[in-house]
Amino acid sequence: MRFVDTHCHLEQAEFESDREEVIRRAAEQEIVIITSAISTENYERNLLIAQNHENVYASLGLDPMFHTQVEKAAQGIHDHSSEIIAIGETGLDHYRERDHAERLKQETAFVKMIGLSKELGLPIQVHSRSAGAAALLVLQKNDAQSVHMHAFDGKAGLARNSSKNLGYYFSIPTSVVRSPQKRKLVKAVALDRLLLETDSPVLSPNREVRNEPSNLPIALRNVASILGRDVEEMREIILENTLRLYTGIGET
Ligand SMILES: [Zn+2]
Repeated sequence: MRFVDTHCHLEQAEFESDREEVIRRAAEQEIVIITSAISTENYERNLLIAQNHENVYASLGLDPMFHTQVEKAAQGIHDHSSEIIAIGETGLDHYRERDHAERLKQETAFVKMIGLSKELGLPIQVHSRSAGAAALLVLQKNDAQSVHMHAFDGKAGLARNSSKNLGYYFSIPTSVVRSPQKRKLVKAVALDRLLLETDSPVLSPNREVRNEPSNLPIALRNVASILGRDVEEMREIILENTLRLYTGIGET
C-alpha cells in the first residue's frame, strides 16, 4: 500500500459500466480506497464492492439532505458495524438547504451519527458544505472522536485550530489543483492531520472529466509542492496519518 484515497463513492452510478477497471487502475498504483455510501439504498452495493476487492474498504453514512432516513441508516450501520471502517459521510449542508427548520433536522441526524461513531469506535467522515463552522461546533459540543473533515470549504483558521487543538483530520481533495481555497487549507492543517481524498466521481483535477481514485497521486504532488516538501516524504507522512486514524486498514 502506498496511498489511501480516504473518501470517494465507488457505489455511484457513474461507475456502473467500468467499476472493475477503475478499482484495478487504483490497485496497480497500490492505492487503497475507502468508499462511502450516503443513502441507505446503496448500503448493500457499497458493502459488496468492499467485500469483493482487497484494496477497498466501506463506510456507511447519510447525506444531510436525506436526514429523514436517519433511523434506517442507524440500523444499517449497526447491522454492518463489523464490515465498515468508518461512518460517513454525514454532517451538515447549508449550501443545498437554506431553511432553518430543515437545517435543525440535519443537525439532529448528524448528532445521532456522531453518537454512533463514538459507540462503535469508528471514525466519522464529515460533510460540511457551506457549514464548516457549524459542523465543527456540533462535533465539539458532542465530544466527537476520530473526526475526518472531508473537502472542508470553511475558513482556514478553523481548520488550523481544530486540527491542532482537537486533533481533527482534514482530507485534501484532487480539486486542490484548481482551488485557491483548498491551497489555503493545505497550509492551515497541522501536518500530522493531513489526509488525501478524491471524492470520486466529483472534485476531479479536471472539472470536465469524471474523477477516480487513481488520480490521488495528483493531489499528493500538489500538496507536496504547496508545502515545499519532497513528494515521497509527503507520501509517507500522509500514509502514517491515515493509518493512525483508520486503524482498520491492513487488518484482515
Ligand atoms: Zn463525498
